[in-house]
Amino acid sequence: MPTKPPKPCKQAGCRALVYGGAYCEDHAKQRRKQVEAQRGTSTQRGYGYKWQQASKGYLKQHPLCECEQCLAGQLRLRQATVVDHKIPHRGDMTLFWDRQNWQAMNKSCHDSKTAREDGGFGL
Ligand SMILES: [Zn+2]
Ligand SMILES: [Zn+2]
Repeated sequence: MPTKPPKPCKQAGCRALVYGGAYCEDHAKQRRKQVEAQRGTSTQRGYGYKWQQASKGYLKQHPLCECEQCLAGQLRLRQATVVDHKIPHRGDMTLFWDRQNWQAMNKSCHDSKTAREDGGFGL
């Protein structure tokens, strides 16, 4: 299964070897917890009721995935199910609510985009 050579865990002082990802299992778990704690709940991040309503309305006007690959025709037109931020808002509420920065996306397109952006995070 592992194709890459193992690397030592990035956690200082940890000597575990990791196959893919930056941290050993224990430290990856630890980091996930830290990241989750920093992120807070989805409501705290702005994905509250207001966002659900706003994104639902947006998807009605933008029923098809607007991701680069779909627009370029590499993928068959997919139904948009989530609203994505073209520029990651990272908690910036101006960016978050700026509709110019929104794009309708299919969940699977969105997931592969998120995976690319979060690459190496080991999540
Ligand atoms: Zn470790
Ligand atoms: Zn797409």
